[in-house]
Amino acid sequence: MSVSVALVGAGPGDPELLTVRAATLLRAAEVVVHDALVGDRVLALVPDGAEVIDVGKRPGRPVPQETISALLVELARQGRRVVRLKGGDPYVFGRGGEEALALLAAGIPFEVVPGITSSVAGPAAAGVPVTHRGISAAVTVVTGHRQAGQLAVDWRSLAKVGGTIVVLMGVSERATIAAELLAGGLDPATPVAAIHAATTSAEATLRCRLDELADAAVEPPATIVIGKVAALDLRAGSLPPVHAAEP
Ligand code: SAH
Repeated sequence: MSVSVALVGAGPGDPELLTVRAATLLRAAEVVVHDALVGDRVLALVPDGAEVIDVGKRPGRPVPQETISALLVELARQGRRVVRLKGGDPYVFGRGGEEALALLAAGIPFEVVPGITSSVAGPAAAGVPVTHRGISAAVTVVTGHRQAGQLAVDWRSLAKVGGTIVVLMGVSERATIAAELLAGGLDPATPVAAIHAATTSAEATLRCRLDELADAAVEPPATIVIGKVAALDLRAGSLPPVHAAEP
């Protein structure tokens, strides 16, 4: 039996940041099942006539994960070429692992196509390298999401790890996250960069200190970078004049 489902990372938004494999599979897809964060410019690659199903988990009317997994199994059994398209990388907070397990359990062959995760592409779009020699030797990617009413991460311990902290899905909990990191011993002056809708036309970056994050105007979807690297801005044209003037 040929491979019938591909769990594909769509990257952070800009279609230029799709992998070659992702673009190839999208152009050959017969049915595409995608999340809310996958934009129209990426979906434009899907051929006319292919079915496009939006299972975006929007607040208020989430599509349960089991329903999505069952849908993938059903579509694959119809013998169609199924692309399951997820923002960023399918295995970085994308619940791709759960869908892979469902496909394995159903005996359906699948392939996984990694994508450029927003946890790296978001900071890069704002000129922030997530590691930098002499400044940050580690990067921790965490979710700000609550599970059963509790934050899923021990932020006070994380404050002691050092290096860069990249928070996904953290906008609504940013006050609690900041308070916990401060309680764990992080410097109130720790730089923060919050990148909204990175690599799309709506991209916007906000910079502040950790003790200002609670009141900072950040809208989802945003990637929040906490650590010394967040003070850097290595985008072209942003070098200080003394460097720019050098031959
Ligand atoms: N699998 C995805 C992450 C899914 S969780 C990945 O690897 O990127 C969804 C979260 O990702 C959002 O809440 C936000 O924190 C982040 N995110 C996704 N797309 C983004 C973008 N274009 N700009 C900034 N953050 C983004």
